[in-house]
This record gives sequence, C-alpha cells and structure tokens, in this order.
Amino acid sequence: MSSSNGKSALFISDIHLSPHEPATAERLLAFLGGPARTAASLTILGDLFDYWVGDDDLDDPFNARIVAALRALADAGVVLSFMAGNRDFLIGDDFAVAAGLELLTDPCIRDIAGTPTLLTHGDLLCTDDADYQHFRRQVRGPAWRSQFLAKPLGVRKAEIAALRARSEREKKIKPLSIMDVNAGAVAAMLRQHRVRTLIHGHTHRQGQHSHMVDGQACARWVLGDWGISRGGGLVCTSAGWHFVG
Ligand code: MN
Repeated sequence: MSSSNGKSALFISDIHLSPHEPATAERLLAFLGGPARTAASLTILGDLFDYWVGDDDLDDPFNARIVAALRALADAGVVLSFMAGNRDFLIGDDFAVAAGLELLTDPCIRDIAGTPTLLTHGDLLCTDDADYQHFRRQVRGPAWRSQFLAKPLGVRKAEIAALRARSEREKKIKPLSIMDVNAGAVAAMLRQHRVRTLIHGHTHRQGQHSHMVDGQACARWVLGDWGISRGGGLVCTSAGWHFVG
C-alpha cells in the first residue's frame, strides 16, 4: 500500500456483478485490464458480486472469468485486497487463493499513501436500520454460515434469490435516510480505532464528508456504485486523493 514508488492506491466497491448485467462486467474487466494496471494496489471494499453463494461456485463461467481477470492483475504486480460486503460475505479462502488477493476483515486499518485509514464496507455504519443490523448479526455468525454452506449449491442459489427479492421489496418501503450511515456510528468507529480517515462503500453515495470527532476534523470518503454507464473509484497518492470515473 506504500506510495513510495509514486504509484497510487485504488479503491472500488459495489460493482454488484451479475450475469444479468453483462455491460457492468465488461466495464470492470476493461478496468482490471487497463487503468488498474498502473496502480500499486487495488482494494475492493465489498459487493463485488451481487450475490455469492459459496466458493464451490468458482467454476461458474461468469465467476471464473472475473476471478481470472483479478488473478491476471495480481500476477502483473498489483497488490489486490478484498473486503466482503453484505452481498458477497460468503466469499472465502478458496476465492482469495484463486484470485490472488488478501481477504480483509471489516473493519481494518491500513496505511494509505501515508495516512492511517479505516476501511469498512459501510453496512456496519447504517445503525438506523435496526432490522438490517439484526439480520446481519444472524447471517454473519459462524453457525448460519456453516449451516448454509452445507446445503447443495442449487438450494443455496434459490434461497439467495428469495432473500434478494425480499430485500428489494423492503428497500422500496424504507425511508432513504435509514439506509445511509449514522453520524454517531461513524464517530464511534473513528474514535474506537483512533484514526481520522475512513473509506467505505455500500450506500452508493459517492462523496467526501467531514466529521468533527472529539474536536478533531475527520474525513470520510464514500465510494460510488457501478452500473452499465458508470463506475470508478478513489485514487490515493501522497500528493492527494480524488475520485475517478
Ligand atoms: Mn453493500
């Protein structure tokens, strides 16, 4: 993650890859084979896939193509890291080995271009959505994970499809405000980890925000999501940070 060679640390999130949106996948593949090659590192802060049912689905042709592109980028010398999002939290060690990347825990601290920075997917900060936080605690526990992964691949795919349909219905009736981060949760996380800079995704609201925490100015960088006609990231160098795309 060092910028000593003058190269940048790149961050992307919320690509929500799915075979149903091939144009978004092509956009990511072009990015991995092009602009990302000039970076020192690429960190994916979750929701790379719209859903991930388990690492035994690596042979699926769509998944295999994405993993091969990640692997090629890693083989080209770009340090690759991935933190799970709420859509692809079942990504595990087999995926990491195949793609040539390091799995990050959520949250974690990394030195980004000389700045100690807290990295998180972002859903942990959406504390106003109590129902979601309850669901998150349930599915992110080891018991749910091992029970779910023990089911046949086809059963898992059907169950995830049903969960996604329910989530889409609920999103339509939830006020937008509860799906954004809670300022108190942001302050608490920065305070707990004793850093003043945070990068997250999840809310799809690309932007740079300032927060005062215990009298100290803190910066929160929010990554945007990808789609057919959009998709970019955050570029961090020792000279400054800016959004691209
Ligand atoms: Mn998310």
